[in-house]
Amino acid sequence: MNLEFDETELAFRDTVRDFFASMVSPKFKTRLRAGLRLDPDEIVAWQKALAARGWGAPTWPKAYGGTGWSPTQIYIFEMEAARAEAPIQFHQGLELIGPIIFSLGTPEQKARYLPRIISGDDWWCQGYTEPGSGSDLASLQTRARRDGDDYVVNGQKMWTSYAHVATHMFCLVRTSVEPRKQAGLSMLLIDMTSPGVTVRPIETMDEKRHSNEVFLDDVRVPMANLIGEEGKGWDYGKILLDRERSFGAASALRLRQHLRGLKEAAAERFFGNAAVIDMHDFRMRLAQIEIETIAVEMMVMRLMADASAGKDSGPRASMLKLRWSELLQAITELWFETLGYDAAVFRPLEQHATGFDADTAYAIQGALNARVSTIYGGSSEIQRNIMSRRILGL
Ligand SMILES: Cc1cc2nc3c(=O)[nH]c(=O)nc-3n(C[C@H](O)[C@H](O)[C@H](O)COP(=O)(O)OP(=O)(O)OC[C@H]3O[C@@H](n4cnc5c(N)ncnc54)[C@H](O)[C@@H]3O)c2cc1C
Repeated sequence: MNLEFDETELAFRDTVRDFFASMVSPKFKTRLRAGLRLDPDEIVAWQKALAARGWGAPTWPKAYGGTGWSPTQIYIFEMEAARAEAPIQFHQGLELIGPIIFSLGTPEQKARYLPRIISGDDWWCQGYTEPGSGSDLASLQTRARRDGDDYVVNGQKMWTSYAHVATHMFCLVRTSVEPRKQAGLSMLLIDMTSPGVTVRPIETMDEKRHSNEVFLDDVRVPMANLIGEEGKGWDYGKILLDRERSFGAASALRLRQHLRGLKEAAAERFFGNAAVIDMHDFRMRLAQIEIETIAVEMMVMRLMADASAGKDSGPRASMLKLRWSELLQAITELWFETLGYDAAVFRPLEQHATGFDADTAYAIQGALNARVSTIYGGSSEIQRNIMSRRILGL
């Protein structure tokens, strides 16, 4: 693996750096440092700005409107995004269903959906998890039966992120009952405005609206919205989950951004006469976290190098997911501790204008929000199971 960039790559880095310098608003900074997502309208506006520059889909091939960048260019783009404290793109359309549509979709599906993912006009949510079917996803019960040219879908999805703003959902459904439960699953693309789709919020402790239950009652979905072949949904679903974990690469490269926020807070706060950042115990913990962050960045580079060589990321995607999510929690927790008494303050965002330091509440919300990173996209226990099976052969 060559860790040096050549001249073309350095020129590319400068172009990307200039773009971010001119486009990134400082008003995003505190929330992003805290590991929080921006509001949906801000995420869409950022996606549109990237699309206008031709960079709406950094990881896609040119043939489908992507940049056609090499893994090294994608790495540079993400590093520069983190350096400039730019928002992270929303991944469920771009990194999850988009690649499935351009790999397996019909010409009509490609023409209809791909451009609108890049332009930010469509927002996709992921309808996999159900009550009782999270880690054991293959046990899911949402049924789709054929009726004329449609499927009729009945069931309930759980924890569906951003379903309340989504225009479409890619959904795993059971189209037949087979001895091997994975074999009866299919993947459908569902228009969220279809009659019979009901979205209800799930309250989370960070007090932000992002999670939902989605109820599907006799929802008619045209057969043209089936991805690939009926009964192959599990295979496609697994590809998506792998990609979701690999997409952790972008999240992993943001850890430095969170570290920056932590260090600034530690330099500004005092314990007696000493700045927190100068205290021995704090420095030890910070050093450990920073070393592990560098190790994770190296892991991302190895994944990118493998991708350049056309190799599968294998269980390293699980290793990466496990480590970046644990580090995100460690950084946001240390930040929380650094705030001392201020950490007791938690107020909804709309009350930020007066009183306490607005950044404080963001840091706390970030620490609460980070709890989920070791659950979604496959919990830490599930990642460890994958590693024990695939690396240790247990
Ligand atoms: C905020 C949030 C957003 C989410 N967004 C989405 C989304 O957009 N779309 C979507 O489809 N899903 C989403 N999820 C669902 C997420 O993927 C699941 O919560 C996750 O896979 C765990 O499933 P579960 O909640 O059913 O827990 P369970 O599977 O019931 O697990 C409970 C506990 O048991 C452990 N466990 C389970 N099985 C094993 C095992 N075999 N070995 C060892 N330990 C095990 C788990 O690690 C966990 O600690 C989201 C979840 C959250 C919390």
